[in-house]
Amino acid sequence: MNKLEKIINLAEKRGFIYKSSEIYGGLKGFYDFGHLGVLLKNNIKKLWLKDILSMGNIFLIESTIIGPRVLYEASGHLENFYDRLVECKNCHNRFREDHLLEGEYGEIEIKDNKALCPLCKGELTEARNFNLMFKTYIGPVEELASEGYLRPETAQGIFVNFKNVINSMRAKLPFGIAQIGKAFRNEITPKNFIFRIREFEQMEIEFFVNPEEDEKWFKFWLEKRLNWYIKTLGISKENIIPYELPKEELAHYSKKTVDIKYKFPFGEGEIEGIANRTDYDLKRHMEYSKEDLFYFDQEKKEKIIPYVIEPSAGVERIFFALLCEAYDEDEVPNEKGELEKRTVLRFKSYFAPIQVAVFPLLSNRKELVEKSKKIYETLSKDFSVVYDSSGSIGRRYRRQDEIGTPFCITVDFQTLEDETVTIRDRDTTQQIRININEIESYLKEKLKICNS
Ligand code: ATP
Repeated sequence: MNKLEKIINLAEKRGFIYKSSEIYGGLKGFYDFGHLGVLLKNNIKKLWLKDILSMGNIFLIESTIIGPRVLYEASGHLENFYDRLVECKNCHNRFREDHLLEGEYGEIEIKDNKALCPLCKGELTEARNFNLMFKTYIGPVEELASEGYLRPETAQGIFVNFKNVINSMRAKLPFGIAQIGKAFRNEITPKNFIFRIREFEQMEIEFFVNPEEDEKWFKFWLEKRLNWYIKTLGISKENIIPYELPKEELAHYSKKTVDIKYKFPFGEGEIEGIANRTDYDLKRHMEYSKEDLFYFDQEKKEKIIPYVIEPSAGVERIFFALLCEAYDEDEVPNEKGELEKRTVLRFKSYFAPIQVAVFPLLSNRKELVEKSKKIYETLSKDFSVVYDSSGSIGRRYRRQDEIGTPFCITVDFQTLEDETVTIRDRDTTQQIRININEIESYLKEKLKICNS
């Protein structure tokens, strides 16, 4: 198994991720998240929120997933949000034209001026536009007027609430509106595990600024977001790559975009895009809704349409990057002192899905079990904790290493004499003994968010 296969295997085996509708053969491009996956996703979202809300001028919103047709006419998605698709006339596999041209399937053979399918060498069709939005109907009648769309980005729910937020929150430029929520894209070729999927979660900020200050704020957000990946999430600098898009690759609304890419085992892939969306969206919504979406600049005493800087990140892609970043294999001594291979996820302790595991040395000794359960219950109030009493201590350590638990506490016979326990560190595998009443402060210190 290569590294990527090992990571996917671990994620599925240990309850981070399951294939969606697996008992019916799975649904391509859709994944469910298990207990550990949900905990890790929540931690990513919490760290993102913590970072942006501390600015004091970011307001949250949760808008609906389904929007009316007119919303996506206005946003330009009905007209412009497509990929160029080619199909094999023989095997009927479909490909994104840009992926073929970028060489993702190797060199494309040409015969009689016709491109051939990389899989079966059948003839490929001409490319056509394929809109990536999922369509539905709102209410019982299926007609144009009742057409609705599952949002392809959370951003539009922010733009349509621009006036509401200004009026209710007394927002002054520069300010942001942020949203975490599901987005849907009917990707032609979902692939690379959870990298390209059809239902995913975005964390987006639309940061409204004075048009004269767009470049300054673009720089600010690019730096802030790079910093978040490197310092808060602890991703190594070499694996984070900013990439400015050439003009021909820009989305229909963008004046400038820098993608933040991560070096995945399968190649570099975007985890976040920072875009200067200018006044495109507000102008278009003003035109289609006929509502006044101007902002009144008190200082200049004039009406303006702000520009928007948009940092847009995908939770699953960050999740995947964190799994790749954390995955490691090394050798550690077992109970007999012999070196043993182990798999370990070296998550930063403050976002590990499980932060502490509590073990009684033996599961059949009532005093040890009771004491451990008591410690487990106390710690559960402040930390993400599991209790495990099955198998040898060595096996229990391995299980926790594999899911990235940074600390394991063991209650042994000495505990019954002097109220001390051992705390074992995942990365060094070193153990120290501390008093039960010191556990909480020890963990709090160790689990502090590291921002420097
Ligand atoms: P790509 O070029 O990889 O299709 P994109 O440029 O269309 O991505 P954006 O529109 O910038 O992506 O979306 C913002 C973020 O949403 C991306 O950086 C990514 O993290 C996430 N995202 C977009 N499409 C998907 C997808 N199909 N699966 C998972 N995450 C996605």
